[in-house]
Amino acid sequence: MLGKKSDPKDLKKALFLERENAWDHIPETQMRPLESYMNEYRSFLDFGKTERESVDTAIEILEKAGYVDIRKTNDTKNIYYNHYGRAVAIFRQGKAPIEKNLRILVAHIDSPRLDLKQYPLYEDEEIAMFKTHYYGGIKKYQWVSRPLALHGVVAFPDGTVNPIVIGEDEDDPVFTIADLLPHLAGKAQMGKNAKEFIPGEKLNILIGGKPFNDDKELKDRVKLHVLSLLNDTYGITEKDFVSADLEIVPAGKSRDVGLDRAFIGGYGQDDRVCSFASLKAVIDAEDPEVSSLVLLLDKEEIGSEGAAGANTVIAELVLGYVLARHGLDKSGVVRRMLANAQCLSADVNAAVHPDWKEVHELRNAGYINGGLTLSKFTGVRGKGGSNEASAEFVARLRRLFDDSGIIWRIAELGKVDEGGGGTIAKFMSYYCMNVIDAGVSVLDMHSPFEITSKADIWMMYNAFKAFLED
Ligand code: MN
Ligand code: MN
Repeated sequence: MLGKKSDPKDLKKALFLERENAWDHIPETQMRPLESYMNEYRSFLDFGKTERESVDTAIEILEKAGYVDIRKTNDTKNIYYNHYGRAVAIFRQGKAPIEKNLRILVAHIDSPRLDLKQYPLYEDEEIAMFKTHYYGGIKKYQWVSRPLALHGVVAFPDGTVNPIVIGEDEDDPVFTIADLLPHLAGKAQMGKNAKEFIPGEKLNILIGGKPFNDDKELKDRVKLHVLSLLNDTYGITEKDFVSADLEIVPAGKSRDVGLDRAFIGGYGQDDRVCSFASLKAVIDAEDPEVSSLVLLLDKEEIGSEGAAGANTVIAELVLGYVLARHGLDKSGVVRRMLANAQCLSADVNAAVHPDWKEVHELRNAGYINGGLTLSKFTGVRGKGGSNEASAEFVARLRRLFDDSGIIWRIAELGKVDEGGGGTIAKFMSYYCMNVIDAGVSVLDMHSPFEITSKADIWMMYNAFKAFLED
């Protein structure tokens, strides 16, 4: 214990908790690897704007690193499991006995967006439009008056699946949702609250405007033209939209933000920023003692329900494969293995916005450049619907992260009565394991252009690696 006679300045240093800026703790020698990581991360964002594209991009990276599809090998060393093309599980075997001390990183690769409805296409006032149904929590007004792209797949009854990406190439057309001009918006919009001034049924995509031919007697000439173009390139008829997963996302690439390039701006960073760090960490972990499981999952933004989400037995499924190859396929083993595992639920938190401080409780908030952000619990109204990590588990991670030179802090998502949100953590805790949320703090979360700090991303990646190597 520190004596009362110590210099008060020294005593303060020893007893007080100082808020750190992660940049102050990244040595010059790490700047080059940091920037090359950020370039890779930005291309992960640019090529993976849907859960399916993120799975494809992740698998490409994994195969380059020597990982093999578990269905194509008897080995269990470095393998992945492609789950419906919408989620991917990665297993890396450590040196310790396989059923001991598993480490888990779990993150999600779905992001808020606009899905096409199943009968989306119509013509009104000689303009062809797509109807949408938004997915996840969005502020609807952020999606109007901006270039949008169409991503997804159309599955045909004969089993073929055609991927579609329109709006990302320089030469591609883009799409948009036209807003109402301010001159006429007085009654229709300006007096209403933000929730109401763009109703969900007005989030319709401008898709075309040229008639098929000059036969003015022909009804729906513009719709016909759009369908004929889609049919020429993708073989689609109107009926095929029913078996399609087509998503409208912001068009364009992620960018460095700020004169000093401190930040990355781009769509879908919740939660690809953590997904990419998890992926890189499991590949880059040096000679890990214990085995690692990384789950990159779909459907978190709508509550993790659904076959490719966290509220399933995917962890048991994949570990079942692995254990069976070691003659350990009894269900008791997989349950014990999961219960003894330690898990980081890799997801983002909100960063304090200098102009909107009033929604945060500043002592317990996340900050841009605060390093790795841990959330002991999530949820709403008195921690409802969340997992809370135990004091012991937090203490263990403190030791690990402090020993590894990681700058980190713990954050709540906003003031107690302000709102809140949930993550995957509670579904992992179903297996009785220790789990805590860990990620970076994001500005403008769920917007078409989310902002993260490179220093935070770097701390997160190094933290995940340390976690898997511990
Ligand atoms: Mn998230
Ligand atoms: Mn989210």
